[in-house]
Amino acid sequence: MSDAFVAVALPLALRQTLTYAVPGDLAGSPRPGARVVVPVRQREMIGIVTALDGPAPAGPARSVIAVPDAEPVLDEPLLALAGHVARYYAAPPGLVLRAMLPPPLFSVGQPVVELDDPGVLPAGGAGPALARLLGRRAGGVPLRLVRREAGSAGLNLVHRLVAEGAARVVTLPPRTAAPEQRERVLELTERLDSLLERERRFARAPRQRQAYEALEQLGGRAAASQLDALGVSAAALRALVAGGVVRAVEERRIRDPFAELPVSLPPGEPTPAQVDAIAALRGLPPGGAALLWGVTGSGKTLVYLEYLRHVLAEGRGAIVLVPEISLTPQTVARFRGVFGDQVAVLHSALSDGERYDAWRALREGTRRVAIGPRSAVFAPVPRLGAIVVDEEHDTSYKQGETPRYHAVEVAQARAARAGATVVLGSATPAMESWAAVERGAVRLVALPERIGSRPLPPVEVVDLRTAPLTEGSGGVPWSEALDAAVAGALERGEQAMVLLNRRGFSTFVQCPSCGEVWTCPACSITLTFHQVPPVLRCHHCDHREPPPASCRQCGSATQRYRGVGTQQVEAFLARRFPRARIARMDVDTTGAKWSHHRILDAVGRGEVDLLVGTQMIAKGLDFPRVTVVGVVDADVALNLPDFRSAERTFDLLTQVAGRAGRGPLGGRVIVQTRQARHPAVSHAARHDVRGFALAELAERREPPYPPHVALANLVVSGPREEAVADASVRLGVWLRALAEARPEAGVAVLGPAPCPIERIRGRWRWHVLLKARDAARLTRLVRYVSARAPVAGGARLVVDRDPVSLL
Ligand code: ADP
Ligand code: ZN
Ligand code: ZN
Repeated sequence: MSDAFVAVALPLALRQTLTYAVPGDLAGSPRPGARVVVPVRQREMIGIVTALDGPAPAGPARSVIAVPDAEPVLDEPLLALAGHVARYYAAPPGLVLRAMLPPPLFSVGQPVVELDDPGVLPAGGAGPALARLLGRRAGGVPLRLVRREAGSAGLNLVHRLVAEGAARVVTLPPRTAAPEQRERVLELTERLDSLLERERRFARAPRQRQAYEALEQLGGRAAASQLDALGVSAAALRALVAGGVVRAVEERRIRDPFAELPVSLPPGEPTPAQVDAIAALRGLPPGGAALLWGVTGSGKTLVYLEYLRHVLAEGRGAIVLVPEISLTPQTVARFRGVFGDQVAVLHSALSDGERYDAWRALREGTRRVAIGPRSAVFAPVPRLGAIVVDEEHDTSYKQGETPRYHAVEVAQARAARAGATVVLGSATPAMESWAAVERGAVRLVALPERIGSRPLPPVEVVDLRTAPLTEGSGGVPWSEALDAAVAGALERGEQAMVLLNRRGFSTFVQCPSCGEVWTCPACSITLTFHQVPPVLRCHHCDHREPPPASCRQCGSATQRYRGVGTQQVEAFLARRFPRARIARMDVDTTGAKWSHHRILDAVGRGEVDLLVGTQMIAKGLDFPRVTVVGVVDADVALNLPDFRSAERTFDLLTQVAGRAGRGPLGGRVIVQTRQARHPAVSHAARHDVRGFALAELAERREPPYPPHVALANLVVSGPREEAVADASVRLGVWLRALAEARPEAGVAVLGPAPCPIERIRGRWRWHVLLKARDAARLTRLVRYVSARAPVAGGARLVVDRDPVSLL
């Protein structure tokens, strides 16, 4: 029988799939989306079959060694999605697949060779060595061991035996980190639908009724530990079990640290505005998309929850994307509060084994709601009904390394294929989303008011050029107005938040006599001074060096520490408000696994009066006792050479302002700036989201930037500045020739020019921008460019399609 051939994508930076022969008698036949064990040079790797019945290759093809699973790991729609991502972002297909699947599925630690009849081993060559190995071990010999003890001759022999059907290579299932744990799960067996029934049944047992209703709210099923965390009486639950209303079962427990966190029950009945929004979402056609534009505090979460309840009731599953999951424990808690153990939380703190467990639970359908950051867009949810993207404007939805996908774009591509809906939710929608609404591709659903008709907090803009500063504030720009607002909140026993989007103590060190500024030896950025312990640090590559005792240029003994970061603000506030309990939240205080939660929990419990932080404190937090929000310096990112800097600043200001006045106490916001008339500041001060979007969209018409054009950033980098410049110039010439040869394609080439950050981690960086009116043209072009562009001589080309930053 002649061999069939399959195309296999390997988890390597290869543009192409490789062709392998499938021996006629291989146990299990590979299907598209299935894992296969294949030889690659002198080792075995796990790849994914992307296509069957390929043409025979020109030369001899090596053979598939094993098909480890009965079922493909990727179903047809997900495999098609992988193909889309690879094409759209010009990414190596195998790297796309690696990003979609839990790492243990690519681990080749496990393949073992099994042989029924040792008599087939040849007497010469590697035969005796292999016989020895097989004789020593029951249950197969790991290929790793074959290589170590019998070398490539041994492996070749195995491959030959496999091809002849005399041996099998099997892959053991990935080992998950810890032994299985079991837990008690409680389940309603009886529904008491009418109020009357409940009253009769629980007339003299109000705690049983509470327990019953808690379980009902959790979707009729919950772990005992979860109910305990909610404060449900164990005695009442026992009574319910005894009465036959509830059943207790022991189940395998999925190791999910989020399970330990308390859940929150839904806040109550939806308001009329929420009811309308839910109805609008339910009216979406399959494959349809909506932009849920709700001001901060308008109750978007309950809309997602109620909508998804309907999706689940139809027997479908859902994906909920959140920006950075460790920053959004409240959102996760609310989803768990409604969907209980239907929810699989995917997050960066999971071990590989835990990730695999969650993946399997979703795939098998034991959990139907996946919540997680951008990579959760690939969660293997069967019968996908909806993808919700919360805070859809957030930059964390774009992956910063290959494959450089944008989860919002992938969500739309996936939903369109699956007939699922997409709900993009934000108080500050991305310009791309506004444009999609204008085009009619996305339906606008608005929640224009806060819950309880609470007003949005008034925003006061303080002009730092003229405003009187508080005495003794040193380098910290701290106006009397901001001081009075914070002091007032503290006196009244309320909470305040202070944002400065810059960490560290001082942002740079400069010599007062010659002007020398301390920069990173590997990156073209200044070093930030951190105070405890005192050290200069690079925020790009984490280079560290001791603070200078004197100037390396002129020897001056004093150095000036300039530019204020969160550490300095915190230190100043501790002096200024000695009795206040202050917490700081930035990358430096949230390194440990659960530190975000500890800080946010403390704020929630009222153990923190004043929270200082970077953009981390602006993300979706809902603390009703926060009445004052102060922005120390709104201009931090306003003048970065990036077409999105105004949008970013507007989003940040609007979002952080939205943390104030979410409860009955009301609230106010003070924004300090030197550019009070900048549209990003002035629109944020009026909560004028639509007005800002209109102004910003107009701004980006000429010269055109996204969303009016599709954009790709081609970054050339390398260790030698000259080589990088040369390669970029050549690339620019080549691209221009390409664009001019096909003027009808409407592609514009900008640059080359040095990147705004010219050097990172020792690599010099130049870039060229490609703009196209038509996104499909750009897809074809970036693929061609990444395959053919003449970038050589120690330089490397990175293609960043739909970049979120041009720095
Ligand atoms: P957003 O995400 O739009 O900023 P949230 O979803 O965080 O708003 O809701 C803001 C607050 O209003 C939360 O404390 C939430 O519990 C509460 N809330 C939402 N919907 C309702 C409702 N229908 N009734 C009462 N409270 C609600
Ligand atoms: Zn000097
Ligand atoms: Zn550096």
